[in-house]
Amino acid sequence: MTEELNPITGEPVIIAPQREDRPNVYDGAPCPFCPGAESETPPEICRDGDPWRIRVFPNRYPPTEHSEIIVESALHDDTFDALAPDHAQRVVELYFERYRALAAKTAYVCIFKNQGRKAGASIPHLHSQLVGTSFVPARITRESDAFAEAPNCPLCDLREHPLIAESENYRWIAPRGARLAYQQWIVPKAHEHVIDEAHELAALLQSSVRAMSAISDSFNWAFVVFPGEPRGHWYLELLPRIAAVAGFELGTGTFVNTVTGVDVARLFSRIEKMPWTY
Ligand SMILES: [Zn+2]
Ligand SMILES: [Zn+2]
Repeated sequence: MTEELNPITGEPVIIAPQREDRPNVYDGAPCPFCPGAESETPPEICRDGDPWRIRVFPNRYPPTEHSEIIVESALHDDTFDALAPDHAQRVVELYFERYRALAAKTAYVCIFKNQGRKAGASIPHLHSQLVGTSFVPARITRESDAFAEAPNCPLCDLREHPLIAESENYRWIAPRGARLAYQQWIVPKAHEHVIDEAHELAALLQSSVRAMSAISDSFNWAFVVFPGEPRGHWYLELLPRIAAVAGFELGTGTFVNTVTGVDVARLFSRIEKMPWTY
């Protein structure tokens, strides 16, 4: 894998032709994440449970040299919302642990999930990924700069954004200015740039997966973090995948969203009535 720069803006692009070789389980390849296929993956970094219920290993078809996979269940057809609460929490704790390990040797680490074909997954078996890059991606730089220049942190005061639900430490919102239909953010209430509260976050992620399942069988989520920018406020973006990103969006970077945040919050808070008892 190598990096090339956009000739106009200088923004980096990762060139990783070896990713073309990865198996597509949707097209009939055997699942390399199922129990019994452990030898199909690179040596494990860690596992949870005996027999295992979570496995972490380097990506065999990595987009960058610091790319890891977290297989989140031994069951091929499991879904994140169906995990026992302590199991989902352990997955989120592993996000944080592997994030810290990779952040120590890279400029930026993205923790993300591709679930379903329309979200870019090639393997349906429940998993998430971490990709560490040698550069800070353009979106992160742009948002870091915006936080640094804002008179007040735009994520500390979310009164203008439709609220789906909240826990003691997080707000789950359908933000104004969302690029895609049914986009949500989970935002920590405290302005901190460490990420460490896993219990409530896992429960909110499970709630969001249940709500998004009513809209699409495919979704992405990604942590958006701002290491090195104390005015940055991390959040998690969740995107059910419905329509393909089309010519206008690709040609301009401007998105046409067909669903308002008010409607998303109304629908999702009705689907997912959460008994928040902490
Ligand atoms: Zn499998
Ligand atoms: Zn803030």
